[in-house]
Amino acid sequence: MAANRASPQQTPHLLFPLPCLPVKNRAMATGRLYINSDAVLSNWRALDAMTDCETGAVVKANGYGTGAISAAHNLVGIGVRSFFVADAQEGALLRKPLGPDACIYVFSGHMSGDTDLIRLNDLVPLLNSQDQITRHFRDLPDAPFGIQLDTGMNRLGLEPEAWQAVRETVLRRGPLLLMSHLACADSPDHSMNAQQLQVFKDVTDGIDVPRSLAATGGILLGQEYHFDLTRPGIGLFGGLPFRDARHVVRLDLPVIQVRDVAPGETVGYGNTWTATRASRIATVAGGYADGLVRLMGPKIRLFDGQTPCPVVGRISMDMIGVDVTDLAEPPEALTILGPQQRVDTLADAAQTIGYEILTSLGGRYTRSYSS
Ligand SMILES: *Cc1c(COP(=O)(O)O)cnc(C)c1O
Repeated sequence: MAANRASPQQTPHLLFPLPCLPVKNRAMATGRLYINSDAVLSNWRALDAMTDCETGAVVKANGYGTGAISAAHNLVGIGVRSFFVADAQEGALLRKPLGPDACIYVFSGHMSGDTDLIRLNDLVPLLNSQDQITRHFRDLPDAPFGIQLDTGMNRLGLEPEAWQAVRETVLRRGPLLLMSHLACADSPDHSMNAQQLQVFKDVTDGIDVPRSLAATGGILLGQEYHFDLTRPGIGLFGGLPFRDARHVVRLDLPVIQVRDVAPGETVGYGNTWTATRASRIATVAGGYADGLVRLMGPKIRLFDGQTPCPVVGRISMDMIGVDVTDLAEPPEALTILGPQQRVDTLADAAQTIGYEILTSLGGRYTRSYSS
């Protein structure tokens, strides 16, 4: 296995599973993203402990930005058997690290250009329309598949009438899974949850095929929503709605330059910040091209240990100005994401959700994995 790890087909920054990068002794002008693999595993175990059924793992979008290969490799190591990705390409990248026995489900189903990837990597498309069902039965008649049902979200899946029309034909072919997705599971009191649950039961009750409805939010809604297999994603990587999740990612931005700024001088594009006292300003590497969107600037801080330092001026494409006047010494790097300021705090500052912060984590960061 180890010999395959550096295979050139794999994205080069996805090194796993060890903290193997020489970032400590060499000053590099890229952010350092530390991913705590143990925290991912303990989040999976905590979510698994909330149900009596099988718990899968959703590792789409490069494992929510943290590195899908590393996450998948570690999760399969503790016995996770069912993985979910968005498309066949993502699934193909995972077959080798997961080994031959893991089941890799593909949410987007079987698109016309995906047939070879599905066959060669033994992926399980979650067919979502009559067209996909026809294509799959015609092009890969003996290959496994699941069915995606729309229960009200109106995003992907067969609607109840369409399902009714094909149900007998499909069931004769032995689907591995019947699944649907909740639109409002992060709001436990939303009436949509019970409504979708009822529709899901109406269209699947009495069928002897494993069922799946719950992602992270659905697991937290309680036992009725669990069925045979759950599909947590964000909860594994430390984001809401899993409030008790262990923190997974830390992002440190190296200080490239430090300067003294006199009262009345300005910093950054558009002169939006003016020094009101003699100030020391650190310029750190990392900006909106790395997913640190401009909108968050005024509401976030960077940390030297526990000491917060405000952002000054606008976030640039590759740099951020930070007021380090109150630090005894300007540090080598400042933490922008970590236990001091979590994914969902950054998300609030950017008027978005933790999912978007994680999946926007920049490709330029040096990623390293630790336990
Ligand atoms: C992304 C996704 C999941 C995982 O959702 P989380 O909220 O991240 O747990 C599960 N099922 C489907 C269909 C998805 O698209």
